[in-house]
Amino acid sequence: MPANTTSPIRLGIVGVGKIVRDQHLPALAKNPDYRLVATASRNATVDGVQSFTSIEEMLDAVKELDAVSLCQPPQVRYQAARQALEAGKHVFLEKPPGATVSEVEDLKVLAANKGVSLFASWHSRYAPAVEAARAFLAANPPNSVTITWKEDVRRWHPGQEWIWRAGGFGVFDPGINALSIATHIIPTAFFVTSATLDFPENRDAPVAAEISFSASNGMPLTMDLDWLQTGPQTWDIVAETAAGRMVLSSGGARLAIDGKTLHEEPEAEYPRLYERFAEVVRTGVSDVDIAPLQHVADAFMLGKRRVVEPFFD
Ligand code: NAP
Repeated sequence: MPANTTSPIRLGIVGVGKIVRDQHLPALAKNPDYRLVATASRNATVDGVQSFTSIEEMLDAVKELDAVSLCQPPQVRYQAARQALEAGKHVFLEKPPGATVSEVEDLKVLAANKGVSLFASWHSRYAPAVEAARAFLAANPPNSVTITWKEDVRRWHPGQEWIWRAGGFGVFDPGINALSIATHIIPTAFFVTSATLDFPENRDAPVAAEISFSASNGMPLTMDLDWLQTGPQTWDIVAETAAGRMVLSSGGARLAIDGKTLHEEPEAEYPRLYERFAEVVRTGVSDVDIAPLQHVADAFMLGKRRVVEPFFD
């Protein structure tokens, strides 16, 4: 195991789908800290990499694996994570880290008992302007925050049936990205106070949601999620502060104060995620923040449900 060494981390990927092809493989190809040695996917392979159809077979056949990245839908992540941790592998969890809060808590305990690293990746936290927004709000606490996350599900998740099933998160699949940023940049804790979730009559996960939160200091925060927005897409967090209106837009890529751009860079979330995972593995720690997942769970727990017109891909 290469923890505390500089030899490449021998990695296996589980669940070769859209995000693996779009982001994981390009990020890994450029990072000498990793060697992709195996994949486990029922229907897909990666050219030049030995492939298996299940994580059991992969763990059994490739004993030298140091770590695995679990990129399947959240409903099946826990079982795979448990198997990998039991086998003594470091684990990278795609977001959301699980289908429930308690299963992620269980994985944290297991990783600690096994002496391996668990990483709950929140890719949006690695968007280029997020740290600048965090520094701004640390110096200028917000008086109110508005999150607007509106995108076109047909464009970003074409034909993904799992996302509409129970445990697939529906519009909270992108919405949890906003929460991963908000929980990182807002200096006070905040809590769901009310929510309305819109469920298409033929689906088990919501297509839209409106959530109100209150911070421990009374600061109001609202979140508006919509998955049917065509045309320009909106991924904005706006904070009113004594020093002006902060707008973190494009999913965390651009920061402006009172209309003046402070920070804007090309997106490099997955290269940064894998840098962080290598750091976590090599320093022998875990990095598992469940706050974004807890807020989603709380919205489901407290939210009123409305049945809306059916959704067809
Ligand atoms: P995807 O295209 O559906 O790929 C997931 C893969 O997991 C599937 O191709 C499938 O490959 C495998 N899988 C294993 N068990 C499955 C099951 N029960 N149902 C369906 N697929 C199963 O999904 P994705 O977009 O890559 O998303 C995967 C994870 O990454 C999700 O948690 C998502 O939130 C996260 N993520 C996605 C994006 C994005 O933009 N798409 C961005 C960031 C994070 P086999 O059939 O070969 O086993």
